[in-house]
Amino acid sequence: MKDITDISKLTIEVPGDVRSILKTLKDAGHEACIVGGCVRDSILGRTPGDWDITTSALPVQVKSLFSNTADNGIKHGTVMVIKHGRAYEVTTYRIDGEYKDGRHPESVTFTPSLEEDLKRRDFTVNAFAYSPGRGIIDLFDGISDLRRGVIRAVGDPDMRFEEDALRIMRAVRFSAQLSFGIEENTWNAIKHAAPRLALVSSERIRVEFEKTLFSDNPGYVNDYEKAGLSGYIIPEFPEKCFDTWSGELYSRIRPDPENSLKYLRLAAFFKNLTAEECRRVMRKMTFDNKTADITCSVLRHKDKMPAPEASSVRAALKVMGPEILDLVISFNEACGTECAGVRAVLSDVLKAGCAYSVSMLAVNGSDLMSAGIPAGKEIGLTLNRLLDAVVEDPSLNEKQKLLSIAAGDLPAACPGMPEHS
Ligand code: ATP
Ligand code: MG
Repeated sequence: MKDITDISKLTIEVPGDVRSILKTLKDAGHEACIVGGCVRDSILGRTPGDWDITTSALPVQVKSLFSNTADNGIKHGTVMVIKHGRAYEVTTYRIDGEYKDGRHPESVTFTPSLEEDLKRRDFTVNAFAYSPGRGIIDLFDGISDLRRGVIRAVGDPDMRFEEDALRIMRAVRFSAQLSFGIEENTWNAIKHAAPRLALVSSERIRVEFEKTLFSDNPGYVNDYEKAGLSGYIIPEFPEKCFDTWSGELYSRIRPDPENSLKYLRLAAFFKNLTAEECRRVMRKMTFDNKTADITCSVLRHKDKMPAPEASSVRAALKVMGPEILDLVISFNEACGTECAGVRAVLSDVLKAGCAYSVSMLAVNGSDLMSAGIPAGKEIGLTLNRLLDAVVEDPSLNEKQKLLSIAAGDLPAACPGMPEHS
């Protein structure tokens, strides 16, 4: 965190393209500041994900000042300004109209007042603005909340959650991402507003839920349950998914490579469901197919850890493939099982290039057909049988040996043959 004893002295290193956008707007006589998450993250010493700009200029004026812009979001006053291939959101100061559906304002009105624009923002730590000329603008004492490490609603929390129920999810998400607590009145308002989460789309709920689960504090997902939200997130199995033990389990997950973290966190969260139940829930939550497939595979195989022996590891590789087996081992490791032995054997088996799929066999379908096996189902069955033989004894993975087995001249399994792994 930057030294925030005196915020009037606080400066933020604004990237060149963002500075140039601010300058263009100011030179044309408009006000312009960076706003929201990028200011919060800069003060905290975190790397901002995106740099958002708020301005008194109307969307048409913004568009006229930049050569490369895009209009997605223009209805809400946002013009995307593109610089060096990167899009920056430039949004006109606005007041949100009445929220009739508990999620979206009926209308937005542009305003020349920065204060009005900052008032519509959800939390004090998200309501900072900054410009190189004016420094930090902090109208709701967000700095004190950053110091104390709390998420506090701007204005009356009950009203703010009533307007937009997604903010309920966002409060828990930011507390997890920033390792912050939730201020008492804001927390009480969340509990009170919990049923309004029914107004939020599954997709928006999933996005916030994922950001919480994949944050540095994944165990904070249990705050959803403490606030009475679990039934709106996983209506079918709330009590099977939210539990305190998972909090510990998540923190023990140390995947390598890091990009498998999300699958392991999801598998840990859904660990009390069957693979089929998990698939149903993940589909309803609008997870993409790849994420659901991998997570469900981990659940399907998590209790099938191989013994630390080459033949057992090869058999597991045939069933799961290397990616899922690796995740299954990491999952069991996080659950407290000693897995160093299996890992070492897996590494040896992979280094030795042992076949675990039909495509790794020294023969293919055409070889079998040339050897007289009829085309069609028989080929697939034979390849599978050959793979079983090779998984049992990798030294059989040679064209002549496999053709002999296929022709019935050589037994598939030769008891007592040494293992080569
Ligand atoms: P992130 O690091 O996730 O991008 P962020 O703070 O930038 O965090 P965004 O969702 O990108 O969050 O939104 C940008 C800003 O817009 C927020 O900081 C906040 O000021 C405002 N904002 C976004 N969503 C809402 C909302 N639902 N209600 C009120 N203000 C919101
Ligand atoms: Mg953002």
